[in-house]
Amino acid sequence: MKSFEYFEPSTLEEAVYLLERYNGRASVLAGGTDLLVEMKEGLRTPAYVINIKHIAGMDYLSYDEEEGLRIGSLVTIRAVETSQIVQKKYAGLAQAASDLGSIQIRNRATVAGNICRASPSADTLPSLIADQATIRVFGSRGERNILLEKFFAGPGQTVLTQDEVLTEIIVPAPPPRTGKVYFKHGRRKAMELASVGVAVTLTLESDICQDIRIVLGAVAPTPIRALKAEEVLRNNSIDRLDIAAAAQAAMVESRPISDVRSSADYRREMVRVLTSRAIRQALEMAKSV
Ligand SMILES: Cc1cc2nc3c(=O)[nH]c(=O)nc-3n(C[C@H](O)[C@H](O)[C@H](O)COP(=O)(O)OP(=O)(O)OC[C@H]3O[C@@H](n4cnc5c(N)ncnc54)[C@H](O)[C@@H]3O)c2cc1C
Repeated sequence: MKSFEYFEPSTLEEAVYLLERYNGRASVLAGGTDLLVEMKEGLRTPAYVINIKHIAGMDYLSYDEEEGLRIGSLVTIRAVETSQIVQKKYAGLAQAASDLGSIQIRNRATVAGNICRASPSADTLPSLIADQATIRVFGSRGERNILLEKFFAGPGQTVLTQDEVLTEIIVPAPPPRTGKVYFKHGRRKAMELASVGVAVTLTLESDICQDIRIVLGAVAPTPIRALKAEEVLRNNSIDRLDIAAAAQAAMVESRPISDVRSSADYRREMVRVLTSRAIRQALEMAKSV
């Protein structure tokens, strides 16, 4: 590994000062499950590493009906997976967290790191986008909020500037009669990156689909909303044919590539299958809550 200078700031202001000072040559370190692997493999060679894990007050996970779910940037995937409120109100996110890597990885990895890595196959992103998550970032010019759906610019690329740190993830409280599902498909069940990920969040009002968001992972340069598929179902009393039409629309909207994990054709077909399955399950869930 190439040598680097290491910092352990104790405040956010100090971290941002260092990021600004070493403009583009510094990397933020959280759980390190992405960054350290990339550094060992020589894919990233930061001259400065800024470990934010010693900054107090960024490891909270809280919920109330007004503000929804708030996840501090040092909260681990495991904390999200095992949170009873996440399991109850954000079932898709809880599923995504339990599908990520191994228990050792989940104990170190943060949700914020999963977001900032911006991998198209990152497991938490489809559910967070489907649940309309916003992130709060802090930099030398102050604080700003960004809708997560607008955060990604390409594989490994975000709209974060070089001196900004993600400080918080905010997910609105779900309306009544909302079902949430995440399906991950890979070559094996554990320790596998998604070949396809599908998240659906669906809200019913008098058995009409009042709102739906369908988000696809690993089938485009960034996670994408399947907007045409959503249109098929929104304001509709959903039947079997609607689900088939929406799943078909999602397949057409996906833009997968062929790589070591799957061919593009196989991914497209799995988008259709998993979208159909996810809509059905989210619908059942919405009817039962
Ligand atoms: C064996 C193995 C299996 C894995 N399996 C999966 C899997 O199944 N699904 C999946 O989605 N991922 C998987 N991963 C990837 C990884 O574990 C996740 O992406 C993880 O959530 C990254 O979080 P971290 O805290 O470790 O981030 P780090 O590695 O510390 O950082 C990741 C990136 O985000 C930046 N960053 C981190 N926190 C912040 C912040 N607060 N503000 C600004 N920038 C920040 C870092 O600079 C870096 O660029 C796996 C990794 C390994 C090693």
